[in-house]
Amino acid sequence: MARRSKRKEPEQLRKELLSLIEAFENKLQSDSLREQVLALVPANHTLRDLGGSLIREESVDSARERILTYLKRYSKCLIHGDELMVVAGISEYARRIRELRVQFGWQILSGIVLKQMIDEGDLKQYEIHFDSLSSLKTDTYVLMSIEEDWEAARRWNIANDIRKKKVGMKEKIIEYFRHNVGRIITGEELAYLANGNSEWARRCRELRTEDGWPIATKNSGRPDLPVGAYILEEDRQAEPHDRRIPDIVRIQVLERDKHSCKICNWNYKDVMPHDRRHLLELHHIKHHAKGGENTADNLITLCNVCHDDIHKRNPPIQQLYKLI
Ligand SMILES: [Zn+2]
Ligand SMILES: [Zn+2]
Repeated sequence: MARRSKRKEPEQLRKELLSLIEAFENKLQSDSLREQVLALVPANHTLRDLGGSLIREESVDSARERILTYLKRYSKCLIHGDELMVVAGISEYARRIRELRVQFGWQILSGIVLKQMIDEGDLKQYEIHFDSLSSLKTDTYVLMSIEEDWEAARRWNIANDIRKKKVGMKEKIIEYFRHNVGRIITGEELAYLANGNSEWARRCRELRTEDGWPIATKNSGRPDLPVGAYILEEDRQAEPHDRRIPDIVRIQVLERDKHSCKICNWNYKDVMPHDRRHLLELHHIKHHAKGGENTADNLITLCNVCHDDIHKRNPPIQQLYKLI
C-alpha cells in the first residue's frame, strides 16, 4: 500500500493518531472484520510516521539514515530491533542494517555474534552496554565504531566468494584473513563466512593458539586494537616450536613484558612505515622440541626482527632467561 506522507511534526502526528484511535471506537462495534482492519491501517501508518519523525535532523530523510543516526547516537550500546523499527518507520529494518554493513561499511554487530565473541574471550562484557546476556540475540545490534570503514564493501565481496567454497570452516576463515593481512576484520564478517555456525570464534582461537597464525584481538595481546576487532598481523605461521601457546599464557607473558620486545624494546606504538618490526611474537627460550614448556617462565616477548635474529644466532639460553 503506497503511503509515506511528507514530513510532519511529531506533535501533529500524535494528534492525528489520537483522533484515528478515537474514531476506531465505532469500528469496534462493527461486525465486519475487514472494516476493522481497514480502519486501523491509517493508524498504523501514522504511528510509524510518528516514530520516524523523532529524529529531527534535516539531512536525515530515509529509513536507512534514521537507523544509522540512532545507532551512532548510542554506539557500543545494544539496540533492539524493535527500536530500529520505530525510528526507521518501516518493518524491514533488517535489510537496511545489511546495506549499512555491506555497502557502507558500518561495523554493526548482531547480538548473537557478540555473544560468540564473549564466549571465546574476544570481547569483555563491560566493553559494550547491554542489559543481560539473554538479550544478545540475532535481532539486537551494536554499532562498534562511529567511523565508516571504506574497505568493507570490498571485503564483503571476498567473503561472499570464499563462503561458497566447498572447504571446512577453518580453511575459509584463514583464507579470508590472508586476503586481508594487516586489516581489521569484524566478527560479523567471520560469522558470515561460517554461515552462522557459532564455532567461528573458537576456530579463530585455534588458528592462533594451535596453528600459530598471528590473529590478534584486543583481549589476546593487542590492547591497542579497537574493541571487537580481529587482525591477521602477518601472512606467516609461527615456527612449529612457537605454536600451541594457550591464550591465558600468551597474555600473561605480554603483560609481564609490558607489550614490548625484550631485546630492542619495540612495541605497537612504534610502528613506522620503513621499519621491518611490525609485530610481537612469543619465543620459547628452551625450544619446545627440546622439552621447553609452554609456561610464562619459558616464554619471552620479541619483535619479529629480534625473533628471527635469535633463531639465526641461537645464543646460549641463559642470556634470554636473564631478560625476563
Ligand atoms: Zn626487537
Ligand atoms: Zn622462536
